[in-house]
Amino acid sequence: MITNPKTEGSGIIGCKPQIGPCPNQCPECFYNDSNPYCSFDDVNIPTENEAKDKVVRMNDLHDSNIERGLVIQAVKDNHYKDFFFNTSISNFNFTVNGKLAPVVLTVNPGYHPYNTDDDFIKIDNPPANLMFVRARINLWNDKLINDICQYYSNRKVPVVLTYMRYTNSKYIPLMYYDNYGVNQGKKTHISNSYYCLSKKQEWVESLAIRESYPQVYLCGTWYSSACRYCGNCLREYFATKERIDKKENK
Ligand code: SF4
Repeated sequence: MITNPKTEGSGIIGCKPQIGPCPNQCPECFYNDSNPYCSFDDVNIPTENEAKDKVVRMNDLHDSNIERGLVIQAVKDNHYKDFFFNTSISNFNFTVNGKLAPVVLTVNPGYHPYNTDDDFIKIDNPPANLMFVRARINLWNDKLINDICQYYSNRKVPVVLTYMRYTNSKYIPLMYYDNYGVNQGKKTHISNSYYCLSKKQEWVESLAIRESYPQVYLCGTWYSSACRYCGNCLREYFATKERIDKKENK
């Protein structure tokens, strides 16, 4: 089992039961468009013991709705106690041993029509197991990000903003080249190089929107993208479990 450097030491551990690249092929996905921390050609599955006392994040490098049966089976086979799923497809039917499980949905993943800058997946009646929605943010999709924050805040669904980092400058409008350091060169982020804002810039850029919506958070902190300094996923995981319990015990 290879540990994702982003989640290392955070109480979250990644799991990838599928083989091969994610067929969603979302443009500039952190995993598909750079050198991922583990191979596409192999599974990366923590044992029951490795996952003990941790929350398992299903599907680094992939989507939990692709081969969903196999993904759920990996949870069962390894007797994971705490786990959540990740997808950019609006299907929340993740039931393990008769119980609904938390799911994170990326709402503007980049595939048509949910392009990062133009449109997003709308869930009018969010299910109890929608843990939060993730929005891909950059310096030029502020209108869409506002719409996402408003739409989901009205439905009491937390939003986590993840700033885009680009391996290919063709996705960056010319007028933002300086902000993303296109002419200066790529910067190392976790273990790969990207055209990107600094964490401090991300923090400052997102401040206004985070101040307007109490349940909107930044992925990471002003100084680091490491999960151990952030804690959003752990907090929302346990909040979602409470919500599911309340709903199922009604
Ligand atoms: S929101 Fe926080 S805990 Fe979740 S993936 Fe981002 S950095 Fe990690």
